[in-house]
Amino acid sequence: MLQPMDKAGGTSTPESQARETLLALCWPDGRKSCPRCGAPAPYQLAGGRLRCGGCRYTFHDFTGRWLNETGLSPLKWIALAHAFARERNTRETAAEIGISYNTAFKALTVLRLAILAQGADATQLLGPGAPLASFMEGGRDNGPALGSGLPVYGILTRAQHVFVDLLPELTAESVLHFNHNFHLRVARHGGILVTDRYKTYDALVLCGDEALPYHYLLRHPGGIFVESGACPFWDFARPRLKQFKGLSWRRFPLYMKELALRFNQRDEDLLPHLLTALCAPVPKFAS
Ligand SMILES: [Zn+2]
Repeated sequence: MLQPMDKAGGTSTPESQARETLLALCWPDGRKSCPRCGAPAPYQLAGGRLRCGGCRYTFHDFTGRWLNETGLSPLKWIALAHAFARERNTRETAAEIGISYNTAFKALTVLRLAILAQGADATQLLGPGAPLASFMEGGRDNGPALGSGLPVYGILTRAQHVFVDLLPELTAESVLHFNHNFHLRVARHGGILVTDRYKTYDALVLCGDEALPYHYLLRHPGGIFVESGACPFWDFARPRLKQFKGLSWRRFPLYMKELALRFNQRDEDLLPHLLTALCAPVPKFAS
């Protein structure tokens, strides 16, 4: 059987087709530029490499993009995104595409970071000194316990669309303070605290660590808004949060951003959104 030819005139394989799909997302108008200085029209070198005529930087088509953060091939990336779109867990994803659990876990973290990086609060989450900065410095999930200094997120619903945003002016201490002094009702689910309505937010939510003084919480009679069935996002998110292994305060925003995307795109195919996120440049922050 004759195989179709790809753009370069070579024989098209599933791997080369996957590469073409991702290339089209990386360079939508086909015009390449230097990921370091932005200069257009790099020279083509042997082996598919490119060199910038401005700063002499040598790179390849995926340099500086999220999908370059692991060694997965384009075909495996697309298979991984497809499994993620269907809510396969890490173990199932690894088995489905024939990679190790650790590789799948790392790649899924990269995908979640890519989703999170599309948010308006990406700099506050990923920039120097931010809660997730350690992911940008080698993907480690460690560091000292923060206790009452833990970050707080607001859940906001507007016209069936949910936003989960970091609220940099608040910490876990603020939530405990509102609970004590302003009778803000708080529910606890494992390590997660979720509050009653606060200002324009349906709820404030945070993931605690071992240093958070949970015993300090006061019980107030009555339920909280998001658990009254009035917040479809929370009904959607809560059972899913229970499924995540290794839910730490640092990984928590990765899962919340993932769930917000799933909720907002619940009637659409998630795959194009995931591939677009993976093909976006990893943001650079001035340190
Ligand atoms: Zn350059």
